[in-house]
Amino acid sequence: MGILNDLEEIVVKVKAATTAFGEKAGQYVDISKLKFKLIELKSDLKSEFENLGKITYENSKNDVEDSSNITVCVAQIDNLKLQIEELERQMAAMKNKVICHACRSQNEIGAVYCTKCGEKISDVIETTEASSAEDDFLDFEE
Ligand SMILES: [Zn+2]
Repeated sequence: MGILNDLEEIVVKVKAATTAFGEKAGQYVDISKLKFKLIELKSDLKSEFENLGKITYENSKNDVEDSSNITVCVAQIDNLKLQIEELERQMAAMKNKVICHACRSQNEIGAVYCTKCGEKISDVIETTEASSAEDDFLDFEE
């Protein structure tokens, strides 16, 4: 398992190094940091959901009308979800992938529709244009 992860890590680093020339050199090194952060955020999210369940239970059991602590909890969950989404987007971009906004699955950069759910991928990144310009150039050469 550890070896497989290491291999995946290396593949990701090599890909990032060969494809993202314009990017900052430190970017692909940070992917393991991002992974840790993601695990941390997901565990925070889980405990926040547990917390919400507990509050809802207590409120219901004690017939409490006040829902202010629930509101706080929901806001925290939304915040964590946003952070997780952003992190997943960053990590996908490092692997030259984009995340479908509808089903959260990863697609190749430049894909127009999601291969899983068929939703239109709106997250178009500039590199797509660069590579198609390159294609045009090659066509011209022939
Ligand atoms: Zn999708």
